Amino acid sequence: NAKKSGRNTYSFYESKFTETSIQRTTISTNLKKAIQSGELSLHYQPQVDQFTEEIIGLEALCRWFTPEGAVSPGVFIPIAEESGLILEIGEFVLREGCLKTSKWDKAGLLNGRVAINISARQLSHVDFIDTLDSIVSETQCDPKLIELEITESSILNDPEYVIALLHTLKKRGFFISIDDFGTGYSSLSYLKNLPIDKLKIDQSFIRNITDNRKNQTIVKTIIALAKGLDIKVLAEGVETSEELEFLRLNQIDSIQGYYFYKPMDSQSVESLFKENRPIVN
Ligand code: C2E
Ligand code: MG
Ligand code: MG
Ligand code: MG
Repeated sequence: NAKKSGRNTYSFYESKFTETSIQRTTISTNLKKAIQSGELSLHYQPQVDQFTEEIIGLEALCRWFTPEGAVSPGVFIPIAEESGLILEIGEFVLREGCLKTSKWDKAGLLNGRVAINISARQLSHVDFIDTLDSIVSETQCDPKLIELEITESSILNDPEYVIALLHTLKKRGFFISIDDFGTGYSSLSYLKNLPIDKLKIDQSFIRNITDNRKNQTIVKTIIALAKGLDIKVLAEGVETSEELEFLRLNQIDSIQGYYFYKPMDSQSVESLFKENRPIVN
């Protein structure tokens, strides 16, 4: 209790609180300008088939490069979610992601789908589906090439609304995955009623998997759950050959992680596609 422990303790907490809110306000103000001045961009991290190691898709990840350096999405995305700026950022990410997908597809370069992160607030916004529809037609992007990554918390917000929305998205042809699976509070009954195509096992369960029996059990169980429900399953954050070996033995479908590829800019993606492209005579 701050009051009981005296003046100094109280002001310590107060000043910490103030410092944090100033930081947040600064980031929020700068982020508003960053969206307008084009400081945001997308990087892409390839995902591979565990067996063939071929690229089966890419995840689009938002990047913010300021003249003073890069700001991590781990920092600015939560602030954007709180302030509502995530709606503008989310629209930028969708438009840019669909534009690149359409361009790569038309050039015959694209292997698989492009996954785009959708925040809870964005998904449950009344305009989401209209915005998505107009971006898809404007960029001439085939929804079958787009994977929408949602989180467990998106479903919890308003289950009835989200279930109906996901069915609509599925009818449009979008692929739907659950991101950071296992870290949120989702009810398993949703997996039965939702049109989910893929579970992405959170990287916290993959880390040190070779010497953490609890993580091994959790990962094996998620894989079995996905297989039983006919849902694809991917492991996030795979960094070592030991982690990969464990996942392969336990029949994971696909892998995303530094072991194979780090996120890269769109030009690097294009070079990579050109390298891997089969030569047809
Ligand atoms: P996420 O969607 O779970 O994305 C995966 C994160 O794990 C990315 O971090 C990626 O760079 C990182 N990662 C991939 N492989 C490895 C690995 O082997 N080791 C380690 N240590 N990390 C790995 P990033 O790009 O910093 O993004 C962090 C989070 O920020 C994302 O987690 C996502 O929740 C959010 N985010 C990023 N871009 C967007 C966006 O455009 N929209 C929304 N709503 N959220 C985004
Ligand atoms: Mg993601
Ligand atoms: Mg994730
Ligand atoms: Mg994550």
